[in-house]
Amino acid sequence: MKRNYDGCAICNSTWGNVWAEIGEERLFFCCDLCVVQYRELWERVNREVGWDRVDSIDIAGDRRGRTCEVASGDRRARFVFAFNSVGKLLRFQRAELPSSAGG
Ligand SMILES: [Zn+2]
Repeated sequence: MKRNYDGCAICNSTWGNVWAEIGEERLFFCCDLCVVQYRELWERVNREVGWDRVDSIDIAGDRRGRTCEVASGDRRARFVFAFNSVGKLLRFQRAELPSSAGG
């Protein structure tokens, strides 16, 4: 799967050395909390879109609030979300896709 981060799959930090297998992939994380967060997000996104596979995920934002854009083929979905202090989803809702007209 394509991701927009080179570092930690949640926060893009490059320190730390935690690896976890999520969605058949072995991903790098800075800490265990980010693993919990990503697992939460991954499961929720997959449940929400109902696609047989997600090809890419783009995460933006910081701990106060993040957005992610997921894609599978030409299908796209966007969500806004935030985690609580133990890495559970505090907020998760579908958002409007940015209109990319003129690109
Ligand atoms: Zn992290």
